[in-house]
Amino acid sequence: MQFYCNNCKNNIEESVYKYSVSNFGKALCLNCQNSTPEARKLADALNKLGWDAVLEKPVSRMHIDISVKKAKVNIEVDGTQHSLDLKQAMQDLKRTCFTFNRFWITLRVPNSIVRNKEAFDEAVGYIHKFLSENVRQLKGDVYDKICDFIRGLFSK
Ligand SMILES: [Zn+2]
Repeated sequence: MQFYCNNCKNNIEESVYKYSVSNFGKALCLNCQNSTPEARKLADALNKLGWDAVLEKPVSRMHIDISVKKAKVNIEVDGTQHSLDLKQAMQDLKRTCFTFNRFWITLRVPNSIVRNKEAFDEAVGYIHKFLSENVRQLKGDVYDKICDFIRGLFSK
């Protein structure tokens, strides 16, 4: 029997599968098990809304907590160390700029929001709208570029 990670779909060994199911309630590879409970909670909520949010995606040696490919949005679920630790804060800024150059937007969600039931539900609503809006804008961009290109062909 083949075992695979519920999150990233990579194959996993039976021992990893058993450990994960008893500790996390679902099959996760070692990489996905490393994500924080807050990141997993947010990814689960977004997946219930159909976003295919993926946990812990490595991007050129950098780690992204949650990535939502169809909206080109990365979500960082941050603890306090991200703003208090200068090195970490600088690393975060670099990663935000690096991924933005590839047309990915980074959204930061503090752990405190994820841990509060009421705030979390409200935040998921905002994030859902944010993702939908970015999908709409991405489509608009491509459409506008194609229109400009076609207009360009006929204006000469
Ligand atoms: Zn995985």
